[in-house]
Amino acid sequence: MIPYGRQAISETDIEAVVSVLRSDFLTQGPAVPRFEQAVADYCGAECAVAVSSGTAALHIACLALGVGAGDWVWTSPISFVASANCALYCGAQVDFVDVEPETGNLCVAALERKLMAAQAEGTLPKVVIPVHFAGLPCDMQAIHALSQQYGFRIIEDACHALGARYQHEPIGLGRYSDITVFSFHPVKIITTGEGGMAMTNDATLAKTMRLLRSHGITREAEDFIYEPDGPWYYEQQLLGFHYRMTDIQAALGLSQMANLETWIHQRGELARGYFEALAPERLPHYFSAARRSAFHLYVHHVAPEQRAELFARLRAQGIGANVHYMPIYRQPWYQRWAQTPLPQAEHFYAGAITVPLFPTMSQAQQDTVLGALLASS
Ligand SMILES: *Cc1c(COP(=O)(O)O)cnc(C)c1O
Repeated sequence: MIPYGRQAISETDIEAVVSVLRSDFLTQGPAVPRFEQAVADYCGAECAVAVSSGTAALHIACLALGVGAGDWVWTSPISFVASANCALYCGAQVDFVDVEPETGNLCVAALERKLMAAQAEGTLPKVVIPVHFAGLPCDMQAIHALSQQYGFRIIEDACHALGARYQHEPIGLGRYSDITVFSFHPVKIITTGEGGMAMTNDATLAKTMRLLRSHGITREAEDFIYEPDGPWYYEQQLLGFHYRMTDIQAALGLSQMANLETWIHQRGELARGYFEALAPERLPHYFSAARRSAFHLYVHHVAPEQRAELFARLRAQGIGANVHYMPIYRQPWYQRWAQTPLPQAEHFYAGAITVPLFPTMSQAQQDTVLGALLASS
């Protein structure tokens, strides 16, 4: 089976992990801060908080921004469920903004219309979570302008988009958002097995997220609320979680960072091959001077009535097709809230089929996939 995505692990990565296993600290040693610094340097962000998953990063990002009961959080329906669940964990309500038909990214015009309606009803969101779908940056400058006008905060769900660039700057820099979140699940751009990271330029938000990832506990004397009764003293100041990343994971992530630029380039070349053969009219959305996709996924679009047959045929030929994503509001859990289908999201989902794309994919493998896709059209 040619998988739709997979990790690349080198001997250097393995040695990095083994050296942690031989060291004094399997967790809470030096590797996590080193990995955080490496990602912060790459993105140009001030602060990085490594955690156990992208989902954990989204959760503590919402909490740090004060999301709670009575608040609304809006996100894209064309995403993994974690983009919306993070707000439900905080007791907030979730609503969805329709997407651009070309890219599956949050549609700025739809966001603006929805904001105007919400203002009239007094239901403006506290936080909007744009998702850089398949690695392509959303129109962050326009979303940021709306956040100034309507007073919401922004978390970028960049779980697909480590290595992407917007207006020539790395995603994660945070010029147009409060917090940016990455995932290091093995199908994502780099991996730590499981893992995630929240980037911010706000030291206060970073401090809160560090507390939240570790039970709400601090050992920093200058932060204590009470007088310490001995050198063993620590304080739990918030109801936090156990969301820490291990040093074993961080060592793998740090080692993986060395390949990031090469992998983005290889993903881009493979994606270009797909676009040129299958959908040349879509090339300008994905290859422009102003933004660079991380090309996490290649989503092919067919007529909705052809998708199931194509999916089955690809799988039968050993090609790991997948679908990203059924709109989140269609999930059974989300049915408890009245959900109006969003037309572009429905349309995007109906004919979407993800075909294999990962940096170590060979030209022969891509030719096999292209052969199978072109045979059907
Ligand atoms: C993978 C993913 C997440 C969750 O990341 P995990 O590390 O698996 O918890 C969140 N949002 C999007 C868009 C993702 O693709």
